[in-house]
Amino acid sequence: QNYKSVALIVGVTGIVGSSLAQVLTLPDTPNGPWKVYGVARRPRPSWFAKTPLQYIQLDVSNTQETISKLSLLTDITHVFYVSWIGSEDCELNAVMFKNILDSVIPNSPNLQHISLQTGSKHYFGIFEEGSQIKPHESPFVEDVPRLPVQNFYHDLEDILYEETSKHGLTWSVHRPALVFGFSPCSMMNIVSTLSVYAVICKHENKPLVYPGSKGSWNCYVDCVDADLIAEHHIWATVDPKAKNQVLNCTNGDVFKWKHIWKALAEEFGLEMIGYIEGKEQESMAELMKDKDSVWYEIVKKHNLVPTKLKEIAAFWFADIAFSAVDLVSSTTKNRELGFLGFRNTMKSFSSCIDKMRTYRFIP
Ligand code: NDP
Repeated sequence: QNYKSVALIVGVTGIVGSSLAQVLTLPDTPNGPWKVYGVARRPRPSWFAKTPLQYIQLDVSNTQETISKLSLLTDITHVFYVSWIGSEDCELNAVMFKNILDSVIPNSPNLQHISLQTGSKHYFGIFEEGSQIKPHESPFVEDVPRLPVQNFYHDLEDILYEETSKHGLTWSVHRPALVFGFSPCSMMNIVSTLSVYAVICKHENKPLVYPGSKGSWNCYVDCVDADLIAEHHIWATVDPKAKNQVLNCTNGDVFKWKHIWKALAEEFGLEMIGYIEGKEQESMAELMKDKDSVWYEIVKKHNLVPTKLKEIAAFWFADIAFSAVDLVSSTTKNRELGFLGFRNTMKSFSSCIDKMRTYRFIP
């Protein structure tokens, strides 16, 4: 086939990487037809077998391995970097990104654009416990100064700016809000985390109790559907107005966790117990810490795709989401530049659950 563009997706099995792979390989995707290379450390998962791409199993934190595997590719036109090491270690995350650019830039003469995904943590600091950093005032706009805290997003941006300017390439930085997606190979998938929590409640015949804080129950939150982020990345490869821009990425609406909690209870046929006045936040990670064998039983009973509880659910991440307040990003710059994509968050939530059921990750 004669391809117009050739993508390298780094983190192809992740929450955004897997959506990006699916959207890029559709016949009517802008700048297409796309040939797609996708990189991740683990072997290609069975649920991902049908997506038409060339899968490269590779640990990109290993410089030698990255150079030896990726320097063989000479036709890449676009890099989509949608990965992280799973810790906020600045050096390690920077090495991964640098290894990719050092392997691709000298060997792919038709390379045009590097699309980097960071996130709205840019505006409120890092997850690390005890971080005293004062967040920017929300709604977050793209051009505020960096917070005075070590954040690997800063390192990734600096590498991006330096390498693209040295080699005459274009770039875009995408800062998604909380992502709604379906991948079980993600280190932070809030929809699968909440779904697994609900499935365990159901299995144990318990009601769906909200463990979060009062503030989080009542405040506005934003999120973004993984397919919409994929469209955002692709738009930035096509539209000259999006080139060399930092852009937030959200569904364009807001929601409250109380709305999601009700929808979650309905999805799994559970009695719902919302925030109880006066109650302190309980840690979901703590509540779920001994449930590995329960999840194993559930997987067996329902004949699900085998997953470990710690792979499919990031309860620590729900703890952060359920303690946060007032972290909404502005999407005005996107609209000013012509990106009008949006999603209905409540529909996005149920469609991710439907997709996880279709793939048999949850009953
Ligand atoms: P995920 O955790 O969903 O996916 C990570 C991907 O990278 C997986 O495919 C993983 O596969 C791969 N990967 C990880 N380490 C390596 C490695 N050393 N070598 C090769 N592949 C590797 O990523 P996200 O989309 O969540 O994160 C990308 C960025 O988006 C991060 O900066 C994150 O902070 C940000 N973000 C995420 C949000 C969310 O809700 N998830 C919200 C906002 C921003 P494997 O494990 O097999 O290697």
